[in-house]
Amino acid sequence: MQNVDHSVNVIEIKNVSFAYNGHEVLNNINLAIHRGDYLALVGANGAGKTTLVKIILGLLTPASGSVTLYGKAIAGFKEWGKIGYVPQKVTSFDLNFPATVQEVVLMGRYGRRGLFHRITENDRDKARRALEQVEMWESRDHLIGDLSGGQQQRVFIARALATEPEIIFLDEPTAAVEKSIKEEFYALLRKLNQDLNLTVILVTHDIEGIAYDAMHIACINKTLYFHNTLEDLLKETDPAHVREKDLRLVSHHHPYP
Ligand code: ADP
Repeated sequence: MQNVDHSVNVIEIKNVSFAYNGHEVLNNINLAIHRGDYLALVGANGAGKTTLVKIILGLLTPASGSVTLYGKAIAGFKEWGKIGYVPQKVTSFDLNFPATVQEVVLMGRYGRRGLFHRITENDRDKARRALEQVEMWESRDHLIGDLSGGQQQRVFIARALATEPEIIFLDEPTAAVEKSIKEEFYALLRKLNQDLNLTVILVTHDIEGIAYDAMHIACINKTLYFHNTLEDLLKETDPAHVREKDLRLVSHHHPYP
């Protein structure tokens, strides 16, 4: 059973706007995310999804508006271990680097105590638990570069889980990913949300794939033009508010009352 505590907003975004070199990509975004929520952040390429996530992670500063994490203004927020991020392209990682699965996950612990700290038994336990959660413990001694794309994704999820976050952001792997791999990925996210009670925020352009899993859907295209449940998305009749394309994608595959 999902355990959503609607009384606690772990993330609050108020009137956030952002521009790159004078070119506005986010306009007056307001969004609250509850503890235990599973939010799909949906939008076309270039809609501003990644920019919004970078603002929430404190990597970019909004031109105006505010972000609050666990009730604290982001500038004073220090508990970054509570927040995990799994990027879509793991560009910061060279897959040819001869690291084992276990070593990659242990790197997730460095963020907490600096790159050159000694790895403790506690670090190893946390890495093991994270690998078990994504069902990759048995592959712990394999080289990361030898794994399939879907398996690598699971290892990078484990790396984010190794700090025992309460919130996890994921950029959905796109293109060329087989349907069965996507389904496994969604099943894993359901498990993390339901069993570990993690707050999950999935950045995706695939509303069709995720709509029935997510508790809430936020559609973004520079502005946030919809944020509610799927049921409400399907009831929405104002085409200026929700684009027909989104509705068609969902209703086409899943007849819904
Ligand atoms: P999404 O994640 O929805 O694909 P992004 O947030 O990555 O969208 O990008 C939103 C817009 O901002 C796009 O038009 C993109 O080209 C632009 N953009 C993204 N990153 C930068 C950057 N570092 N410098 C300038 N423009 C950028």
